[in-house]
Amino acid sequence: MNLPYPDLSETEIKQEILPEVHQWALANGLVMYPVGFSSEQATIVPTTLYPTYLPRASFDKAVSLQKIYNKLYADISRNSCGGWLTQESIKLAKYDNEFTGKLWELYLKSMEQGIAQKLRLGIFRSDYLIDKRTNEAKQVEFNTISVSFGASSTKVGELHDFLNKAGKYSANSGDRFYQSEIPVSESTSLLARSLAIATERYQGLSDRKVVAFIVQDNERNAFDQRTIEYELLKSHSIKSIRITLGDLHNYTTLDCESKRLFVKKTGEEIAVVYFRAGYSPSEYKSERDWENRLLLEISYAIKAPDILTHLSGTKKIQQLLTDEDILAKFIPDIDVRKQMLSTFVKIYPLDDSPLGQEGRKLAFQSPSKFVLKPQREGGGNNVYKQDIPLFLEKLDQKDWSAYILMELIEPNETTENVVVRGNSFFKEPIISELGIFGCILFDDTDVHLNEYSGWLLRSKFSRSNEGGVAAGFGCVDSVMLY
Ligand code: ADP
Ligand code: MG
Ligand code: MG
Repeated sequence: MNLPYPDLSETEIKQEILPEVHQWALANGLVMYPVGFSSEQATIVPTTLYPTYLPRASFDKAVSLQKIYNKLYADISRNSCGGWLTQESIKLAKYDNEFTGKLWELYLKSMEQGIAQKLRLGIFRSDYLIDKRTNEAKQVEFNTISVSFGASSTKVGELHDFLNKAGKYSANSGDRFYQSEIPVSESTSLLARSLAIATERYQGLSDRKVVAFIVQDNERNAFDQRTIEYELLKSHSIKSIRITLGDLHNYTTLDCESKRLFVKKTGEEIAVVYFRAGYSPSEYKSERDWENRLLLEISYAIKAPDILTHLSGTKKIQQLLTDEDILAKFIPDIDVRKQMLSTFVKIYPLDDSPLGQEGRKLAFQSPSKFVLKPQREGGGNNVYKQDIPLFLEKLDQKDWSAYILMELIEPNETTENVVVRGNSFFKEPIISELGIFGCILFDDTDVHLNEYSGWLLRSKFSRSNEGGVAAGFGCVDSVMLY
């Protein structure tokens, strides 16, 4: 199908459109810090120039499944189905003792000390690539901690909508290129709203409640987070603070009896702990950082996420769920289950189970069809195609169980969009990954909120395996449905 993209010359892009993109992005905060920044500098977030077309049916299906996915992952982290997450985490902790094992240990310690808060907040993002043969959305992964680009997604949609309405996509006539509105993801307001609802639900000793954003040192993507903070204050009158894991004990104090967490300086009570950090072992620089994660876990504050919800988002759990017998335990309704199964591609374990044996064989026989993934988040951790056999050979076989082998999804390439990075632009084939945000507030027995929370489109050059926006291959994009 020939889908129309604006047709601007290189000169028009350079002289007329780029200045518009830069000034809109700077005026509206579609920005990030550059590598090695000092505080006043920011650069624009890499973006596409135009929205990218996605089939409406696959987009709608991904959206329609989000609440079901939210509930599924809440059920897993509730340890439903006979403590399934516990059983699997104990096994995985042995294979991946560097991180899963540490998190599991921390969870056990928190149980010894007692979990004060029953409410938990899941802020999730389910990521998809659209298979080019079937046009179906296939799940890349399900993220349960520190999902990002919710605010940037809203902004890039607004940027594209501005460029269209201002006639910049039709340089010669100055008319709109797209007659329909360019969809804008409501992720900024919906993510903030879920944080606000959790804050309201939190029964404070004090009515001076705040949200604590747990952030990384030198976070380059700070503005994506700050936009949510500003929205929380503007639309919900809720203040936020930002703390790193390493600094927690300097700025907060835990009341030993009530397990309430307070801001030392102001006495404000922390109602919700929102992790935008803590998903990678390298972030835990000392025992102190692990102790601080534990302190948060045992505090009465609502965690987004708590450790079990964090653990439910491992690639291992995603692999296990592709087994229909396992999925059926959580999703008894066969029609719903079929819908979910249709979003999965094959994922193999590499252990000595029968399926694991098959995975081991395939990893060496046809590596070009696969990606190998460890239990890690945040990009840059996977091993692709021809690199898989060599990588596995270097490992002790007993360590293979810490990885999963996933069939590669082949999405369509788009050749007519343009990627903008600073002053440069590139007209190269890109592929796009759709993320659907979802929020769920739950306890052991009830679900208090379960919502779809907007979407994100990230595009990357198809020549690169991974498309980290900050790393330099990816960019944020918006969606035009057809
Ligand atoms: P992370 O948790 O580090 O983001 P992902 O599972 O999302 O890990 O993998 C990172 C990137 O690798 C994805 O954004 C996507 O570009 C690529 N990728 C991962 N799985 C697949 C797959 N099955 N098919 C094609 N590309 C994939
Ligand atoms: Mg990912
Ligand atoms: Mg991830």
